[in-house]
Amino acid sequence: MRIIILGPPGAGKGTQAKLLSSHYGIPHISTGDIIREEIKRNTVLGVKIRGYVERGELVPDEDVIEIVKEKILLGNCGRGFVLDGFPRTIIQAKALDHILSGMGLRIDAVINLVVNEEELVRRISGRRICRSCGATYHLLFNPPEKDLKCSVCGGELYQRIDDMEETVRRRVRIYNIETKPLIGYYEEKGLLINVNGVGDINSVFSEILRKLGS
Ligand code: ADP
Ligand code: AMP
Repeated sequence: MRIIILGPPGAGKGTQAKLLSSHYGIPHISTGDIIREEIKRNTVLGVKIRGYVERGELVPDEDVIEIVKEKILLGNCGRGFVLDGFPRTIIQAKALDHILSGMGLRIDAVINLVVNEEELVRRISGRRICRSCGATYHLLFNPPEKDLKCSVCGGELYQRIDDMEETVRRRVRIYNIETKPLIGYYEEKGLLINVNGVGDINSVFSEILRKLGS
C-alpha cells in the first residue's frame, strides 16, 4: 500500500496517517515531523530551513524531495508507506513519480481530506504536540489523559510556533495556491479518493478504510 494523504493544514492528515500506518504495518513518512526534528537538532538542513517553517512558508522543493527520496530508498518501505505532508507542489509530485517509477513502483491511492476553513482554525488553535515523541493532541477533541502531558511518553506538550493565527492564515493561503492543484493532478491519474474529514477521528478513519476497500 503506497498512500498519500492530502488536505489543508489541520485537516487531520497526521492523525489519520498514524492510524493507517499501524493498520497496514507500513511506515508513516511525515515531512513536517522530519523537518521539525532537523530544526530541533540544529542540523545544517535544520538551520537552513527554520525560517521558512516559522514564517509558515514552504521549504524549498529540492530539500524536501531529498528528504523523501532518502526515506523511500533507505526506509523500511518494502510493504509500502503513507506519505503525510508531501507532495505539496506539482514539482514535488512529479519528482515523487520519478523516484517511484525508477524503482518500478507507483502510488496506489491519494486520500483527500475535505474540511471547511472554520473547522481548520478550531483544530489548529487547539493542537498541541509532545516535545519528546511528537504525538499530536487537541485540547478539546483529542485531549491527553493527564493535563498537558503526553499519554504515550509523559513528555511536555507545546503549541507549534507556526500554529499562531497569523501564520496559519498564510499557510492556508499557500495551500490554496501551491498544494490545491494536486487534487486535479491525482484526479486525472484516477487515484483521488475524497473523504469528508469532518466528524470524530474514528469515523473519518472508518470512512477511509471503507473507501480504500479493506
Ligand atoms: P494535519 O496533519 O493535517 O495538519 P493533524 O492530524 O495534526 O492535522 O490534526 C490537527 C488537529 O486537529 C490536531 O490537534 C488533532 O488532534 C485534531 N484532529 C484531527 N482529526 C480530528 C477530527 N476528526 N476531529 C477533531 N479534531 C481532529
Ligand atoms: P506540517 O507538519 O505538514 O504542517 O508541515 C509543517 C511545515 O513544514 C510546513 O508549513 C512547511 O514549512 C514545512 N513542510 C512540510 N512538508 C513540506 C513539503 N512537502 N514542502 C515544503 N515544505 C514542507
